[in-house]
Amino acid sequence: MKTGLRPSSAFAACCAFLVLLFMSAAHAEDIVVSAQIGGDSQRTRFVAFISKAVEFRIFTMADPYRIVIDMPESDIQVPAGKGRGLIFSSRSGLLAPGKSRIVIDLAEPALIEKSELLPPENDLPARLVIDLARTTHRSFLASAKAPPPPPKVEEAQSGALKPDAGDKRPIIVIDPGHGGIDAGAIGRASNTPEKDVTFDFGKKLAAKLEATARYRILLTRTSDVFVSLDDRAAMAVKAKADLLISIHADALDPKRLGVKALKEVRGGTIYTLSEEASDEQASVIAQNENKADVQAGVASEQTAPILSEDIASILNDLENRFKKNRSTAIAHYLIDHMKEKMKFNIRPQRSANFRVLKAHGVPAILIELGYLSNEDDEKLLISEDWRTAISSVLGEAVNAFMAERQAHIPL
Ligand SMILES: [Zn+2]
Repeated sequence: MKTGLRPSSAFAACCAFLVLLFMSAAHAEDIVVSAQIGGDSQRTRFVAFISKAVEFRIFTMADPYRIVIDMPESDIQVPAGKGRGLIFSSRSGLLAPGKSRIVIDLAEPALIEKSELLPPENDLPARLVIDLARTTHRSFLASAKAPPPPPKVEEAQSGALKPDAGDKRPIIVIDPGHGGIDAGAIGRASNTPEKDVTFDFGKKLAAKLEATARYRILLTRTSDVFVSLDDRAAMAVKAKADLLISIHADALDPKRLGVKALKEVRGGTIYTLSEEASDEQASVIAQNENKADVQAGVASEQTAPILSEDIASILNDLENRFKKNRSTAIAHYLIDHMKEKMKFNIRPQRSANFRVLKAHGVPAILIELGYLSNEDDEKLLISEDWRTAISSVLGEAVNAFMAERQAHIPL
């Protein structure tokens, strides 16, 4: 039985524990984690039961208030949903191969009063116990420790290109949005995470383009792993890519727009980078997508410094005027060549400040395949047949654009 805490704990005695999860099949070096939360809005306890004592690293992050627990790759499932007491919600997943992470979103600023790893005893397995006490914003910031740098994606974990000076074929970077601990949007009816839709679509698109033998294809991730937005953009810069295609399927927030809007707003949209958003909806979508690193407990200021310039300067030098013009041209072209076969939004081309599109000198578009918040779009997005058909249509349109306009980045 994986229930209860040490009877000696007075704190535990007054709490009814909410069972969050129990684990099923063990893999990932046989480290199995399940968790419980107990307490109220003043004091809350988080307990992770583990099948084997491993090293944890715990730190806090503000804006929003979070507690992050890093551990070796483990089989963890924290169902997305409501927490309890000071814990608003939690999520977990693979941060990088060999490394798992639990992110606990706090409802209020809270101090970690105690965190300890207890050895197995009686019938209980080893436990990581974290006691939280409500605090002020100021003391939360004062107690926050610097988080570790985000893991770098090893070349072997992305679809990295082998350097080949003799191969002059254009390079296309395909970026399946989200991954690992960052699930992205969640389908309202099916609970399908955006990261699964984008990954499958990205692989299909890569296969379609590879089959032409005209391009070198680089995937920013080749498994269900977290990759920061800046690392994705940096991969395209490093590869001197001719095109970056980022793939997403976002959802609108019913609290912000109302349930009626969820029924009405559907269809694909192709975005390009701009300092000012083309419209309110583009701005909201870009804000959502730019939160991916926050979702994973990674501070954006920690990521690739080569991408830290502001957007105005990025878009104003000669090389980047080429980027801007070509990105807009391909967005137009794709919509024109796909609209007979794919349902597009009423305003299919928009622009906003998407972090992943900042790849210096690389023409870049972000395609939202549809809205996981819309019932009709969701049915399409979760259909393997639809993904096969539309990735094929997109691959053909990209191929036609590249064939018609063989321009390369001017030096
Ligand atoms: Zn997304």
